[in-house]
Formats: sequence, structure tokens, C-alpha cells
Amino acid sequence: MSSPHMGGTEAGYVKEAFDTNWIAPLGPNVNGFEQDIELFLDNGCHAAALSSGTAALHLGLVLLGVKPGDEVICQSMTFSATANPITYVGATPIFVDSESDTWNISPALMAEAIEDRIAKGKKPKAIIPVHLYGMPAKMDEIVAVARRYEIPVLEDAAEALGSSINGQRCGGLGDIGVLSFNGNKIITTSGGGALVSRDAGIVKDARFLATQARDEAPHYQHSQIGYNYRMSNICAGIGRGQMEVLAERIGQRRNIYNQYLNYFEGKKGISLLAEPAGYFSNRWLTTILVDPAEAGITREDLRLALDADQVESRPLWKPMHMQPVFAGFPFYGDGTAERLFQNGLCLPSGSNLTDDDMNRIFAVMDKTLK
Ligand SMILES: *Cc1c(COP(=O)(O)O)cnc(C)c1O
Repeated sequence: MSSPHMGGTEAGYVKEAFDTNWIAPLGPNVNGFEQDIELFLDNGCHAAALSSGTAALHLGLVLLGVKPGDEVICQSMTFSATANPITYVGATPIFVDSESDTWNISPALMAEAIEDRIAKGKKPKAIIPVHLYGMPAKMDEIVAVARRYEIPVLEDAAEALGSSINGQRCGGLGDIGVLSFNGNKIITTSGGGALVSRDAGIVKDARFLATQARDEAPHYQHSQIGYNYRMSNICAGIGRGQMEVLAERIGQRRNIYNQYLNYFEGKKGISLLAEPAGYFSNRWLTTILVDPAEAGITREDLRLALDADQVESRPLWKPMHMQPVFAGFPFYGDGTAERLFQNGLCLPSGSNLTDDDMNRIFAVMDKTLK
């Protein structure tokens, strides 16, 4: 569905790390990769390269001062890595439903949830919106609500490197942003992530906490609990090569989306997610909704037909409030995420898909979609 796609210079950066023996969770590739991210985001953000996006979310919550017993508002429709770190700090996730324009957290339901939590005695300590599949969440409205209640926003941009709203790149739209370079993302370091923020102090603190919170002293001295969350100089070498092709990869993913858009035109009951005005999606994954009444088939019919011909596709993220592990946590919703999960499908979207691959996918779907 989304496999790694090297540009060609990655191995050179990794070889340089070997040649100079920078085989450690620090070094010139780590510094260079952070600079590349900062230049690309072009929004005044500083970046700390970390071992994963999950680690970046965890550190983000720590840096926002979220403590045991606190509550954190979290988009329900997402990958579990968004919500898990809330429990790492001993806090309680408060799940909020999506809206149908972007499939991301509903600003209206979010405001309702905040009001209700305050009425019940606790103001949430942070808000985590997600830009699912590369489509930016309604950040203007989300940030406006967050500011009204003075709650910081931790922006999960793991799937949205290169996406933007009115030219402002995702990752820099909240107080702290999180990127992921896992193997399935738009570019990869094999595994890795970054914490970004316009606040240089926050990023400096993230680097400190990510290297075991070591105080300045000749011996090992610690006055805070630290983590081993820094990115390795080997992985960062892959990242430097990948940054050279990021713009190209975004173009390729968007081209795949457009090919699906053309293919589904005139086919009843299949809809794709359009960009609201001013929104730009990196189209990390192309996703469709299948309306069984209109299409005459269900999402599962289509998925099984693709699977029978060895084409990988997958239902949309199963919302967190429907997950056994998060059963019983508060949820504020109107059924949108459940409907999306019921009818939604992620299609093969890797930037290395060839015309032949696409034609094969279309031929398999032709057999099912009359
Ligand atoms: C991939 C992903 C993460 C986690 O990133 P890792 O680098 O895999 O830890 C977090 N949130 C979302 C929405 C993701 O898709």
C-alpha cells in the first residue's frame, strides 16, 4: 500500500557515517536532517530528530506538562500511536469524533467535549488533532477553540509531511508538531520521527529529555527523568537523502490520487476526499468511501476482490473509541467516524507504483465494480 521509495543518495550519507565512525544517536547526519526539516517546513519551526513519531508524541505531552490524572482531548479516528502516549504519562484520553470534510477532529464536538469536561471538574491539558492520510484538520477552528480555553495543541502531523493550509505547512500549525519517518510514511528513515515547534526552547528541552536528561557536569548527573529517544546518525543519513526527493514524492502521491479520481469518475457510489479551499494534502494514502446502496457492493466486497488478486488495501483506521483497549474512556461523537470506518478503504498509494501496477489495480476493480 505504501512502501519505502529511496531516491538514490541515501546510501551515500549512510556510508559517510560509517567512514567517519559516527555510529551513534547523534552526529552530522542528525544535525543535517534537522536543518533539512526546518528548511522544508519553512514556517519558523525548529526540529528535534527522534527515534519515532510515537516518541515525539510522548515527549510532546511531557513538555506540555501533562501529568497522571490529567485529561487529553484526542481525535478518535486515528492510528493507536496517537492515543497510546496519553496513557504513558498516566493521563486519560477523551476521544472526539471526526467531521466529514476532512475526516479529522470536529471543532464543534471538540468545543462541546471541553465544556463538558470543565463542567465535570477538569479542564483538558492538551488537544491532539491528526491530519489523517495527509488531509489537514480544520486547524484554524481547532486552534481558535484551543486559544479560547487556553489549552495547548499537540499536532499529530505523522501522515502529513508536506501538507498545508493556505501555504502554512502542517507540523507548525499548533504549539508542538509531530512527524513520523516510519517505513510506510511518505518518506522514511526506516524508523524515526521528529518533534517540531516555533518555540526554540521547547525543541531544546525535547533534545535534552530525549538524551536521558543529562545535566551539564563532567559526571552523569540527572535532576529530571529522561528518555532514550534520539534518532541514530545512520537513520538520519537515510532521512537526508529522502528529504532531497520529498517534493517529488508528494507530486507522485498526488498523481496516484488523480489517477484514482479519473478511474472512479462516473462509477456510482464511490467517493474520494476533496481538498477544502486553501487545503493542500500530500495524499499520503488515497482513500475512498463505498456507498453500498449506490455502488451495489460493500467496502468489504471490494477489499476481498483486491485481496484475491494480491492487491493490498485496508479499511480506514478503526476509531479509538471502538477499540477494546480504550473501551470505557469518554467519547463525544455523532457517528461520523463509525460510518467512515464502515465504508472506507485505503488503496495502494506508494510513490513507486508504476503505470502497469495502476492498470492491474484498475483491472481487478473493473471485475467488481460493474
Ligand atoms: C505513523 C503514525 C504515528 C506514529 O509514528 P511512528 O513513527 O510509527 O511511531 C502517529 N500518528 C499517526 C497518525 C501515524 O500515522
